[in-house]
Amino acid sequence: MSIRSNLEEIRKSLPAGVTLVAVSKTKPISDLNEAYQAGQRVFGENKIQEMSQKWEELPRDIKWHMIGHVQRNKVKYMAPYVSLVHGVDSFRLLREINKQAKKNDRVIPCLLQMHIAEEETKFGLDTTELNEILDSEEFPKMENIAVTGLMGMATFTSNEEQLRREFKQLKTIFDTLRQKVPTAEILSMGMSGDYKIAIEEGSTMVRIGSSIFGARNYH
Ligand SMILES: *Cc1c(COP(=O)(O)O)cnc(C)c1O
Repeated sequence: MSIRSNLEEIRKSLPAGVTLVAVSKTKPISDLNEAYQAGQRVFGENKIQEMSQKWEELPRDIKWHMIGHVQRNKVKYMAPYVSLVHGVDSFRLLREINKQAKKNDRVIPCLLQMHIAEEETKFGLDTTELNEILDSEEFPKMENIAVTGLMGMATFTSNEEQLRREFKQLKTIFDTLRQKVPTAEILSMGMSGDYKIAIEEGSTMVRIGSSIFGARNYH
């Protein structure tokens, strides 16, 4: 299977209104170019340095999404161009994004990452921490970030009931968030193994890597 035919297969299965983020982490420029030639314009990376290198080499109409855990001291490198940060999991990080966005005279859209999996290893906020951010005096004054939704990663399991339960939980938090934050319209959930279930449970943005580009080799 080619990258083009994988993309076509996946696009066919996505309902209108669901955005496909092609997760290209660890993949060479040539693979991203192939996806670009097949019409893909939204790419997801999980390392700022790697994303910046690819950003420099590839066409400027690509939207770059940071989907991984973000270190605060590296925000400055992506602030000039990143179009969505999925993994905002602390107030301190949100503040740093706001600060660097201001330096670049832009507003950076952010998704707050919620911890929905049973695994401790996955990052994210709980609802108490989420509300601490939203209800703070500072939050409405942060003019250079826009919270445009939520992101979550389900447990790595083939148990469909569990996946559904975790996605439902995130959807419920999302519905509550939307009452407080009018700019929130994105619910980023679903990867290669679970995106069909995520869409059934209300996802509006899926992050798909291996089903497009093949398995990754980590080195
Ligand atoms: C790697 C990654 C994905 C894509 O995973 P696949 O299983 O290859 O589709 C999605 N979201 C995040 C946060 C990732 O790190």
